[in-house]
Amino acid sequence: MLLQKSGVRCSECGKEAVVFQRHTGRALCRECFINDVVSRVRNEVNRFSMFGAKDNVLVGVSGGKDSYVLIDVLFKIHDPGRMGFVLIEEGIPDYGRLEQAGWVKELAKDSGVDLYVISFKEYVGYSLKELVDLSRRRGLKVSPCTYCGITRRRIMNQLARELGFRRVLTAHTLDDEAQTALMNILRGDLLRLVQGHPAGPLLSPLFVRRVKPLRKVYEVEVATYAYLKGFVFQERECPYIQEMPSLRAQLRKYLYRLEMEAPGSLLRFLERVDELVHGLIPKYSSLPELPRCVRCGEPTAYGRKYCKLCELLMELGINKVPGLREEFTLKHTQ
Ligand SMILES: [Zn+2]
Ligand SMILES: [Zn+2]
Repeated sequence: MLLQKSGVRCSECGKEAVVFQRHTGRALCRECFINDVVSRVRNEVNRFSMFGAKDNVLVGVSGGKDSYVLIDVLFKIHDPGRMGFVLIEEGIPDYGRLEQAGWVKELAKDSGVDLYVISFKEYVGYSLKELVDLSRRRGLKVSPCTYCGITRRRIMNQLARELGFRRVLTAHTLDDEAQTALMNILRGDLLRLVQGHPAGPLLSPLFVRRVKPLRKVYEVEVATYAYLKGFVFQERECPYIQEMPSLRAQLRKYLYRLEMEAPGSLLRFLERVDELVHGLIPKYSSLPELPRCVRCGEPTAYGRKYCKLCELLMELGINKVPGLREEFTLKHTQ
């Protein structure tokens, strides 16, 4: 995306261009590129009423470039006084969140945003590594990404609800969203497609709406934005990446190739998904409230007695009920 040759002019303002934006065919200078990303995020936030000016939002941060860009853009479009950050420590060997997220702590301190740090160990009693090891010992075929994704989402939702945040914001990009949407369509799971959409219905009062302001920004644009902002970061790859569920891993490769061959494909695809969901909303909005897990009390799928997280834990022989309890002191820096 960064232009190798010099002397190319910005398609918007005529200054020296530094990036070539493949999906629009434009050469852009640093400022016009950053403004373009910010205004696209602002439009997406407004279009789906992701949050309002008075809403307190809890931002899930990982310490990587995606969360850096999310926060940088949010600071331009929302009041930092109405934000909290949550950093989840999964407990993956050689992949310490806290070491990777030094800048989050600094930023939280400088901007007066509360930072909540919570670990899998506190929440479910086991680190991700311990869950994965238990699972392997039992010969289960559950991907580490499954334990991780479900636990992370649960922690963010419960924390936001108990602290009174109106929204949970995550740094998923267009690439992530296109994979997820295509996966749900291929599996025929339209309920999940609609539920995961920013305009979809909330099927339980226990859910805090989770939105993804970067959902129309390409991963490569996020990386470019971070680079142009001088965000220096050696992003370490999660050691469990090879164990990503195979459908997602394949779609990720396929969509990447598709975008290389036909720039703009993922964006057009996600825009059609938005239309599709728009048409489906009336059908799914009249569904009854989701049942609650008999073990932990959190929402679960229709017809289920236990939630997915409890099922996963019970399968591992873990008796502890997941939850934020009073004895879990939320480390809370300001
Ligand atoms: Zn320009
Ligand atoms: Zn449960």
